[in-house]
Amino acid sequence: MPRGFVVRSLASPHTNREETAMHDHARHDRPMHDHRKLGRELGLFDTDPLIGSGLPYWLPDGAVIRHTLEEYIRDAERRAGYRHVYSPVLGKRELYEISGHWSHYSDDMFPPMDLGGEQVVLRPSLCPHHALIYRSRSHSYRELPLRVAELGGMYRSELSGVLGGLTRVRAIQLNDAHIFCTLDQVAAEAAGALEMIGRAYAALGIRPVRHRLSLPGAGGKYVAAPEMWRRATAMLTDVLDRSGLPYEAVEGEAAFYGPKIDVQIADGAGREATLSTVQVDFHQPEQFDLHYIGPDGGRHRPVMVHRSIIGSVERAVAHLIEVYGGAFPAWLAPTQVVVLPVTESELPRAEALVRRCAELGLRAEVSGPEHGSLGARVRAARLAPYQAVIGAKEAAGDEVALRLRDGRALDAMPAAEALARIGDLVAARTTDLWEPAVQRA
Ligand SMILES: [Zn+2]
Repeated sequence: MPRGFVVRSLASPHTNREETAMHDHARHDRPMHDHRKLGRELGLFDTDPLIGSGLPYWLPDGAVIRHTLEEYIRDAERRAGYRHVYSPVLGKRELYEISGHWSHYSDDMFPPMDLGGEQVVLRPSLCPHHALIYRSRSHSYRELPLRVAELGGMYRSELSGVLGGLTRVRAIQLNDAHIFCTLDQVAAEAAGALEMIGRAYAALGIRPVRHRLSLPGAGGKYVAAPEMWRRATAMLTDVLDRSGLPYEAVEGEAAFYGPKIDVQIADGAGREATLSTVQVDFHQPEQFDLHYIGPDGGRHRPVMVHRSIIGSVERAVAHLIEVYGGAFPAWLAPTQVVVLPVTESELPRAEALVRRCAELGLRAEVSGPEHGSLGARVRAARLAPYQAVIGAKEAAGDEVALRLRDGRALDAMPAAEALARIGDLVAARTTDLWEPAVQRA
């Protein structure tokens, strides 16, 4: 990324440092920011008419946030016993006829493409691919629950009139997983997924506006199997009741194959959207004739629990932009440390510090005197969590004078100590800039 980060023209989301401080200590106070406007101003993402509406691309700073978020999710999933897979974004039309998407969900799907006498479609969800991955090997009850996760692409043929920014897109990167389990394991797996969602929200500083039990409504949108719906709804109701979370049941919001728990967020205008879901599905295991070998040696049907922790990466990043107004927690910030040499004399020291940051895995840049007075450079770098000022005294002693984004100016300290501390805070994925003290491993 060019060194121009701190000086590029951007309409300020914060007019002064008090406003920025508010974001570090009292997040979610209104007003939230418009992610479409801020995303472009901060150089996070953009669109091009030649690529098409609803098909944003990610600029380097936005790609850093996305990558960091994806790694956080993969790490959380690995710790929770998920196994990651990759599967293609295309599938034959027949696959979606079997899954039920073709008859229940085709309004949201792209038209099929003719390919050598076959029809293939951009997938509207990852479930059918994961069902086939499960089916490709035989499974004993001892392997269950089998948790299959993927951060994968899917497509939705949104009308161009409703597209905007990252919240309504036609190409979606979904944080998805399917847990293949026995009937007895469904409640624990669904509850575990709900807990993972809660932990991720705490780490990311996301506050849900409500939990919703989404039930089927009238009409032919839903698979007709009353007993299946009754059992799945009873299980999710039980999970919600035991979680202690307040929730409301809403008809007409279920997936076509089953009821779901939806975790709702809101944007600055109060518009609600679903970010995370936990679903119980008896339908697709039946459709794909999935089975496992039970302790009795016989074939049994597993249940599929579908779950997403942060939903689509696009919607999650849009929400983070709105919540933080560009002042991201240090671990997510595109630039974590801006190094400010007071004069040209300290420029070599500043550049050396940026290299040390890179070796420690920290994202740092120099903003030198060619970009203006120190005061102007401090203001220009106001969204960076840490500014490291190097004057003659600091350069002589291999020290830095840190300024935190919330306005605190710390006494000069050894550069190695400052970087180690920042590295620990970033590794801990905390939303705190300096406290509480992080234990060195
Ligand atoms: Zn699914």
